Amino acid sequence: MSSASERGSRPLLFGLRLALWYATLFVAGSIAIVLVTYYLTAVSLAQRDQQIIKGKLGDYAAAYARGGVRVLAATVRAEQQAAPERLFVRVVDRGVEAVVLSNPEGWDPSRLETVSARLADGTLVQVGKSTEAREDLLARFRAALGLVTLLVVVIALTGGWLATQSAVAPIRRLALAVQRIIRTGRTDARVPLEGSGDALDELTALFNTMLDKIEGLVSAMRGALDNVSHDLRTPLTRLRGTAEMALASAPDLDRYREALADCVEESDRVLVMLNTLMDISEAESGTLKLHREPVALADVVARAVELYRDVADAKHVTLAFDPKDDVVVTADRTRLEQVAANLIDNAVKYTPPAGRVDVEVRREGGAAIVRVRDTGQGIPANELPRIFDRLFRGDASRAERGLGLGLSLVKAIVEAHGGTVQVASEPGRGSTFTVSLPLG
Ligand code: ADP
Repeated sequence: MSSASERGSRPLLFGLRLALWYATLFVAGSIAIVLVTYYLTAVSLAQRDQQIIKGKLGDYAAAYARGGVRVLAATVRAEQQAAPERLFVRVVDRGVEAVVLSNPEGWDPSRLETVSARLADGTLVQVGKSTEAREDLLARFRAALGLVTLLVVVIALTGGWLATQSAVAPIRRLALAVQRIIRTGRTDARVPLEGSGDALDELTALFNTMLDKIEGLVSAMRGALDNVSHDLRTPLTRLRGTAEMALASAPDLDRYREALADCVEESDRVLVMLNTLMDISEAESGTLKLHREPVALADVVARAVELYRDVADAKHVTLAFDPKDDVVVTADRTRLEQVAANLIDNAVKYTPPAGRVDVEVRREGGAAIVRVRDTGQGIPANELPRIFDRLFRGDASRAERGLGLGLSLVKAIVEAHGGTVQVASEPGRGSTFTVSLPLG
């Protein structure tokens, strides 16, 4: 396991590596430019020398042609006095006699660059120029370029370091925020945005959004857990109370039987609640086992309607079923019956005597529809967004039996089948629940 300080130093190392990469590339690029510049300068200086020598060679050949070695010697002398370019000039008369007309003092003969031309009469004129001046210039140029390269390295390292530092700063802030969250377990910390709108800002914004989501989920889970504990406490307290009272009373077999029956009933209630919660979780996470098969939707809904026929009659609520189309869906028959039963159960439960519950099955567009419409109490607008939440029960509904899990289960099962469930309701006038399932 790595420590927090180790984790904190990682962006630093990353920054250093980035700076080194940046500096290396920058320096390599600069060195390439320097080398090319040096090469081009050296080549053009050499070409310039060659041009000077060739130009002079032409002049001297013309002078020789005009008056032989004498005129040439006079020309060379005159030029040597006036011209700043001092040259080596030699004439070889038909390969026999060599006359050196100019050989400036202190020259290193090994650093002489010469060009020669043979004239029409066979005389060879040779003109040379010392490379010393050029080499001096190039040596100074090399020193200057070395200095520039050194400067470039320093600038690249510092610039790279500063640039990468500012680039990794948001990453470091992000890492610190994550560390803080891991350490404290608090998900309400947020990383401030730079406002630059770049990729890192986007990442930070996404991270904050992810934290919002996690926070929402955690608080929803906490809320659900609180609700579950609260809702479990009531039946368990009743169960304990019943058992305690039976134990405290005088031995009486009938009373014991009654108490045990109550205990079984309460335990069943707890078990139903836990099983339903498990089913919802599994359906939501996609782990609920669905035995899919072609199902005639009208048959399934008809069975659920018949299940509530007596309850509706007893309450003087008209329960009507109208299967408009023969619709076949690929679904889990038992789970679909659960969906229909829960919707009809609610409709009958929340509809006062003399009201109506209409159930219909039909095809609409490319979907199979189950619609349960009632003329009951309706759902207040502020409760509508929460009716599908686990353990939510409407204020006006608490007098009725229920766990607040029916609609959560309906939604989870329908969505596990790739469908949707929608509600429209008007308080005092009734509600309509519409389940839409993919056909086929
Ligand atoms: P329960 O019915 O056990 O309370 P549900 O999850 O089935 O739980 O429903 C959640 C809430 O939605 C109910 O408490 C009730 O307030 C409201 N509700 C559901 N169906 C209807 C309906 N047909 N008419 C009026 N209110 C309804």
